[in-house]
Amino acid sequence: MAPQVTVIPGDGVGPECIDAAQRIIDAAGVPIEWDHQEAGESVFRRGIASGVPQETIDSITRTRVVLKGPLGTPVGFGEKSANVTLRKLFETYANIRPVRELPGVSTRYSGSGVDLVVVRENVEDLYAGIEHMQTPGVAQCLKLISSKGSEKIARTAFEFARSEGRRSVVCATKSNIMKLTEGELKRTFERVALEYPDIESHHMIIDNAAHQLVKRPEQFDVIVTTNMNGDILSDLTSALVGGLGFAPSANLGSGVAIFEAVHGSAPKYAGKNVINPTAVILSSVMMLKHLQFFDAAETIENALFATLQKGVLTGDVVGYDRGSSTSDFASAIIANLGESVDGYTIRRGRPLAMPTPVADPVTVVPTERRVVGVDVFVESGLMPDELGPLLDRLVESSALRLKMISNRGTKVYPDGNTNIDVVDHYRCRFVLREEGELSRAEIRSLLSTIETDVDWVHLELLQEFDGAPAFTKAQGED
Ligand code: NAP
Repeated sequence: MAPQVTVIPGDGVGPECIDAAQRIIDAAGVPIEWDHQEAGESVFRRGIASGVPQETIDSITRTRVVLKGPLGTPVGFGEKSANVTLRKLFETYANIRPVRELPGVSTRYSGSGVDLVVVRENVEDLYAGIEHMQTPGVAQCLKLISSKGSEKIARTAFEFARSEGRRSVVCATKSNIMKLTEGELKRTFERVALEYPDIESHHMIIDNAAHQLVKRPEQFDVIVTTNMNGDILSDLTSALVGGLGFAPSANLGSGVAIFEAVHGSAPKYAGKNVINPTAVILSSVMMLKHLQFFDAAETIENALFATLQKGVLTGDVVGYDRGSSTSDFASAIIANLGESVDGYTIRRGRPLAMPTPVADPVTVVPTERRVVGVDVFVESGLMPDELGPLLDRLVESSALRLKMISNRGTKVYPDGNTNIDVVDHYRCRFVLREEGELSRAEIRSLLSTIETDVDWVHLELLQEFDGAPAFTKAQGED
């Protein structure tokens, strides 16, 4: 029976690119039953705040495979992007973004043999989108990285490397600064790596990874990283091989797979039949591999390479006054089905084994845990040498003492840095005066003691798991 695929043409240049990909797949004789659905701008305009209608959700729930054009968010409609809605709705936690040097597409890196894949965590991190203004002048975005999410993305990276016969996986994080969040992925990666002795692995600080990618990109094979780092790095990697027109992607989860270009709806080119459809075509090739049509995937990729090598190039490569039209480019690929290019071998690959889902929300259980203090964030126009003594006085007879106050991460009281340009948002760290465990009742009592004079806006528990602090120190804190 022909597999069903939900196809969402999307916005802007999406329909032209999707049409090109579908024509090529049909011409290659792949028996797919397409279920056409909507998402994005037209749906927002109909008043559906998520940008994704129920019929589309029902279709994806049934087919579990999506070929999708880019989706835009019209100004003034919808708070969240329809893309992020789809990724989160179907928990497609792994975003696989491959790039490789292409025949006929000349870049600064031509001849270096760039052939790498960014495996980006796709649902956590700053993209959880949990933001608050803590004071009228200070905003906060929560960076959430789970052990469960890190394990899934690290395993996906190694499994992907195995499925494609790749030799190495580099984990790129900012764990030197964000020891708990970015560090979670690093530690998990290093643990998971022990189960994949056939694949080389090491960690690289993300800023150096960006530097190395520009300097010597051919050293990389698979790079696994957190959501925001991956978003930025993968746009960089697309530029190594000719730009966004050549960068495909797959959003994979345990149940659903969504294939789409890295690029957006490029509205200025919409309806002009000039855009480069390669990114969507290569995304559809990834989809065919996912559906285990390995021969057809190879045939189409080879025909694409042959087309590019013959100099059939779109306006983004040769200038929009001279480039091939989108539809002619697709026709040329169809005409070249069965051809290949010497020196450009296709990774045939084998099915990717995604990590087995674990339903239990609890994956880490420490033997011992206790609350040892609390960070109370306050909004205050006082200077540190006024706020500190005031809080000291207020908690004089409490079970807690004020250990220190920081402002945007730097200690300002006691004996704090006097050079910093303070803002009206202080983190006040209270710890138990004596060894023991802090109760919720003592925290409530602390808050009611200080709120007579100071406005608290947020709090965080200071916990220890198995004797190790589960919080970091401020800059300058002992
Ligand atoms: P964009 O649509 O990716 O376009 C940025 C630029 O990239 C274009 O102006 C063009 O560069 C180049 N480009 C993009 N696709 C190309 C292609 N197929 N061939 C050749 N060049 C291509 O980014 P944007 O303008 O920032 O975003 C537009 C809309 O798309 C926004 O509403 C955004 O939210 C949405 N978006 C959706 C997705 C998605 O659905 N996954 C992803 C990103 C953005 P030149 O101007 O240099 O020719």
